[in-house]
Amino acid sequence: MQSQPTQDVRLQGIGVSSGIILGKAFLVEQGKVEVPTFSLLEKDEIEKEIKVFLKAIETTRNQFLETKKDIRKKGFKKGGFIIDAYLMILEDKLLIKETTNHIRKEKINAAWALKSVLNNLQKAFSEIEDNYLRERKTDLDYVGQCILKNLIGEEKIDRCKVSEKVIIVAHDLSPADSAHLDLEKVLGFITDVGGRTSHTAIMARALQIPAVVGLETVTRQIQSGDSIIVDGISGEVIIHPSQSVFNDYRAKKEKYDYFEKELLKFKPLLAETRDGYRIRLLANIEITEELPSVLHHGAEGIGLYRTEFLYLNRPDLPSEEQHFQTYRKVIEKISPNPTTIRTFDLGGDKFISRINVAREMNPALGLRAIRLGLREVDIFKTQIRAILRSSALGKVRILFPMVSGMQEIYQIKDLIADVKEELKAKGQPFDPAIEVGVMIEIPSAVVIADLLAKEVDFFSIGTNDLIQYLLAIDRVNEHVSHLYKPLHPAVLRFIKRTVDAAHAEGIRVSMCGEMAGEPFYTPILLGFGIDELSMNALSLLKVKKIIRSTYYRECQQMVNKILKFSITQEVEDFLHQELFSRFPEELRDFKLNH
Ligand code: PEP
Ligand code: MG
Repeated sequence: MQSQPTQDVRLQGIGVSSGIILGKAFLVEQGKVEVPTFSLLEKDEIEKEIKVFLKAIETTRNQFLETKKDIRKKGFKKGGFIIDAYLMILEDKLLIKETTNHIRKEKINAAWALKSVLNNLQKAFSEIEDNYLRERKTDLDYVGQCILKNLIGEEKIDRCKVSEKVIIVAHDLSPADSAHLDLEKVLGFITDVGGRTSHTAIMARALQIPAVVGLETVTRQIQSGDSIIVDGISGEVIIHPSQSVFNDYRAKKEKYDYFEKELLKFKPLLAETRDGYRIRLLANIEITEELPSVLHHGAEGIGLYRTEFLYLNRPDLPSEEQHFQTYRKVIEKISPNPTTIRTFDLGGDKFISRINVAREMNPALGLRAIRLGLREVDIFKTQIRAILRSSALGKVRILFPMVSGMQEIYQIKDLIADVKEELKAKGQPFDPAIEVGVMIEIPSAVVIADLLAKEVDFFSIGTNDLIQYLLAIDRVNEHVSHLYKPLHPAVLRFIKRTVDAAHAEGIRVSMCGEMAGEPFYTPILLGFGIDELSMNALSLLKVKKIIRSTYYRECQQMVNKILKFSITQEVEDFLHQELFSRFPEELRDFKLNH
């Protein structure tokens, strides 16, 4: 039954975080039992594991018998037959014998072995012509889950309990899911769904590990323990690589890693064009664990601290003190450079159980970010208070997401004023001149950018959402990801309009969406006159290298030219022509993905 797997099965997805990894897969099945995987080295460990397995079968049998009794007691005589079918599967010699053989032969833990045997049985069932028998697959699945739960002990289930480093394979990973992972053990991510700006992608880039998303069926094609290669540059995933493919990729990986190392030479140099135009390069972070990478890549501050993680993966809400202590960690590392703390952007795809939000048809357009904050004022004020207090520790800026109109600005400013009064009354220190900024990520904010600029200290363009809302392209839907066009003339006009409105009022403009960290766009972002680019730390030096090889004058000319085009393709063709030959190494990833 353990037939040899087909070698070199190639899947094409979207490479969203560069790098190449060769390793073992770990399948995270949402809603199912996560199976820990570990190898057993000693003979007595193996025999012990077999006993554990047989005990789990026994426990499951008793549970089924109990359920059967219960069903009968309630008068559902027929229901008992379903349980009989489960009992038959449970007692199937094949299942027990194959699993124990597998534990012995592969020297792996019982849960992993059982999972593998179940997968093979599932495959065999799928190929059966008879409809009725094929449907028994779900019974098998159910029985398998019951044994696994007993084997692992449900309360002990960890989303990623692995003893060796693995590549996470999942349908999708929400920020809450990834918060459960032992990130130290994660080599990379591959998922069925997602696009360049989904949170799995952002997270992978933040952690400097490769990721491929939008693979559609990868969770059905890979089992935990399979050998795989993930190429986060081309978006290719190879399952069960042959020796020659493995060797090719190992060589490719070495070349890639060498190039990354070379970039470090740019770390001490200024982000300045050849004709002396200076721009600031900052980093985006979500968790404090990213700070070493931020410092390693020479960021000039934090341009976007996404604070949602503070709220996720916990039963309660973070206290003011917890906020404060977390911000302290960041500020102490980043000071004297600025830390831009964005208030929570919860809602959308980031839910927390403690705030009651009704199920929404369009969560991206729903009660999220400041809309939620202005409804849950106490929760919002707790965070604002902590941010203000942290501004006494170093240079802190406060940034508000999803601002759509002036009314919100007035409400936010009132809240800030209230919090300042409270702090003053308590004698708690804060920076009275703390800079207040808004994310420009909703089209209406661009349209009224001239008005907003009069009320705030800086703008930060969030291209991930701005493009989503402007072009009506769901940023997490891989089926429309090909329509997600940062070079669409409407996007370009919006960027220009935002920068011009800000500069007319003498305030700075940052860009913190993914567009900011893509070296291909660097020359035009310079040409638009953006003052700061904030990005995942891994992109900083690539972007700096481009800046140091260009002339600001030239970038401005390029922008003047592209603003005259009416079709996205014309803009893309023009920039490809201008840039690919000049920066072949730096734009290699981009070229492969576009
Ligand atoms: C954006 O929308 O561009 C942005 C930076 O915010 P987020 O990705 O967190 O929505
Ligand atoms: Mg956003």
